[in-house]
Amino acid sequence: MSEKTVVGRFAPTPSGRMHLGNVMCALVSWLSARSQGGKILLRIEDLDTQRCGWEENTRLLIDDLNYLGLEFDGGYDRSLWQSARADIYAETFEKLRSEGLVYPCLCTRSELHAATAPHLSDGRYVYDGRCYKKFLKGYKIPDGAHPSMRVHVPDKNISFEDGICGFYSENLARDCGDFVVRRADGIYAYQLAVTVDDCLSGVTEVFRGRDLLSSTPCQLWLAETLGLEPPAGYYHIPLMTDADGRRLSKRDADLDMGALRRKYSPEMIIGIVAASLGLIGKPEPIGANDLIAFFSKDKLPRNDVRLRLF
Ligand code: GLU
Repeated sequence: MSEKTVVGRFAPTPSGRMHLGNVMCALVSWLSARSQGGKILLRIEDLDTQRCGWEENTRLLIDDLNYLGLEFDGGYDRSLWQSARADIYAETFEKLRSEGLVYPCLCTRSELHAATAPHLSDGRYVYDGRCYKKFLKGYKIPDGAHPSMRVHVPDKNISFEDGICGFYSENLARDCGDFVVRRADGIYAYQLAVTVDDCLSGVTEVFRGRDLLSSTPCQLWLAETLGLEPPAGYYHIPLMTDADGRRLSKRDADLDMGALRRKYSPEMIIGIVAASLGLIGKPEPIGANDLIAFFSKDKLPRNDVRLRLF
């Protein structure tokens, strides 16, 4: 039987200009797929199209990817972008609803802050399920209210072997809690959208930042609940730090693609990321295509990736 074609994806949120951390994620996803003769898809998480600047950010994101020489299968096919897929998410949502798994939540932001367990590393919190208890007692949502919709998770352990971080396990009820699948403004939330999209587009491997490691059990459980096949491999890549070990963030504007493009050629930017990842010995200009030969998943660092500039 022939091996399944590798399908990778890069799923950026256009909330700002790409910075080196995003470039690292894009490059690793791209190199892994290409080095195995696979496909790589671009799935833009443009969930908040109304938000100021997102359209322009998306345009710049595509321009930056082109600049770096990272081409995607299907090009910039919008049908894979989150903004074009509300009908698909709605169908999935109805499936969860018909199984009695979703319920309305009217908790305000401040109630959530006051009543929830400490925030997880990725900014999520564990919801205490107070609206679920009301829902079970038949609580009716007042007319005109706009609740968010949560999915009720079971008291179940979900484990998987991450290709970089190793064995990872979470108890859904304790560590994840009931999470929002549709926001109060009607937009389908990250966990639902990403699960549906990764499964339906046949993604076989996911590379993304380590901050999303703790989201993976929710996604694996959602896929299982929906009868969908999840990606076979997850690889949560360490975050990038500056030379002093301080985490890079969007605030480091000197490392966003706008600033980098004023200073470096595409090959130099690829060389910086490749050297920081340890794929090449020191920063030197190299094209993305030429880097394929140097790539192997085993070479990816397990700990923070220290930035190595020219
Ligand atoms: N949109 C997320 C980000 O930009 C990544 C989501 C994912 O890869 O699942 O960090």
